[in-house]
Amino acid sequence: MSNCPECNKRLIKEKRELSPGVYADVEICSKCEDEWIDEDEYERLRSLFKRKVFKIGGSLAVRIPKEIADAVGLHDGDELNISIADHKVVIDPTTSS
Ligand SMILES: [Zn+2]
Repeated sequence: MSNCPECNKRLIKEKRELSPGVYADVEICSKCEDEWIDEDEYERLRSLFKRKVFKIGGSLAVRIPKEIADAVGLHDGDELNISIADHKVVIDPTTSS
C-alpha cells in the first residue's frame, strides 16, 4: 500500500505507539493523517500478544506479555479482578499505587 485508500494521497511510513507499549510500522496519509496498517504488520501485532492457556493445579493460567504489564503498571504480586464483559475476559488491577 502506498496511497491512502480514502483520498489517494501518498502514505508516509512511520513508527507509531498504537497503544501504550505497543509499537507498529504504520503508514500515515499526508492529507487526512489517517493511519493505515498493512496485513503483515497487523498479523505480527496479533501474534505478538497471542498466549497459550496452561494448567496450574485445577485452574487455568495465562502469561501476560511484558509490554501489556508495563503499559498498565502491573507488577509481581499485584491483585487483579477477573470478570467477563461482552464475552471477553477482563483483567482489572484492583489498586493503583
Ligand atoms: Zn487520506
